[in-house]
Amino acid sequence: METETKTLQEVSSISEMKEVALSFRKKSLTIGFVPTMGCLHEGHLTLVKQSLETCDRTVVSIFVNPVQFGPDEDLSTYPRQLQSDIEKLEAVGVDVLFHPTKEEMYPAGHKTYVQVQDITEHLCGTSRPDLFTGVSTVVLKLFNIIQPHNAYFGEKDWQQLAVIETLIQDLNLDVVLIRVPIVREIDGLAMSSRNRYLSDQERQTALFLSRSLQQARDNIRQGTTSAKVIRNSIRQCLLEKGGVEIDYISICDPKNFKEKEQVCGRTLIALAVKVGTSRLIDNCIIEEF
Ligand code: AMP
Repeated sequence: METETKTLQEVSSISEMKEVALSFRKKSLTIGFVPTMGCLHEGHLTLVKQSLETCDRTVVSIFVNPVQFGPDEDLSTYPRQLQSDIEKLEAVGVDVLFHPTKEEMYPAGHKTYVQVQDITEHLCGTSRPDLFTGVSTVVLKLFNIIQPHNAYFGEKDWQQLAVIETLIQDLNLDVVLIRVPIVREIDGLAMSSRNRYLSDQERQTALFLSRSLQQARDNIRQGTTSAKVIRNSIRQCLLEKGGVEIDYISICDPKNFKEKEQVCGRTLIALAVKVGTSRLIDNCIIEEF
């Protein structure tokens, strides 16, 4: 039996991307969209495969969005590997890759930024004040350009998902947000483009993120409910080996990110730490019990 081989259409101009999206819409084809910053791994490809299974056409964007990086962050060293990303997208059968330049997305004179309030003032928003305005702005621009029916986002960036959910709701966007659970390496490390910065030793240290979350889950299952006790045991676990700088350990409401004193009802445990020069995040949800 012959299998259909698809060619990946590469688009870098906004006007061409809009034409392609319009041609899909005119044929009543559903568009699935996966925004990424590239350096693709199995986590990204899991989102892509869900779109391929559900939608008639899948568009992936690769754009390292300068607006979401603070002045002291890793914009210039963020990993970029377009050619191997293209091969990965071709191999799974993606229809369109949109990879604009920063001048295309933010030409001189760009003045508009989108700010979701309140939920952005916790967790990553505290230590990365530019992050969510940058994310909301670029995602809204990408939605306007690509006109997706469905957009796929990973639960690894739990707070980002909440921000996009709010953006869609508040601005009455006709996009269905699809949440995809965290994809992990066999040893538990949450997949991330930034993992490639890690030395062998740092990678061993990074394993303590998922291990400390697992330990917290076990403690809660055994009856511990005090957020303070759980936070301390996570801190101990993370600091045991050295080489970790903790940004936050949050035990909070998964919708509004307010800290909890007791683990009761649905609870998010979210971590951000620096291992070497890499800022890593991980999280888990404690379902109501
Ligand atoms: P990024 O390229 O890091 O901006 O990620 C692009 C999308 O992939 C975001 O929606 C992320 O949440 C998602 N993603 C990244 N890593 C993972 C992972 N390990 N599991 C699930 N989704 C992920």
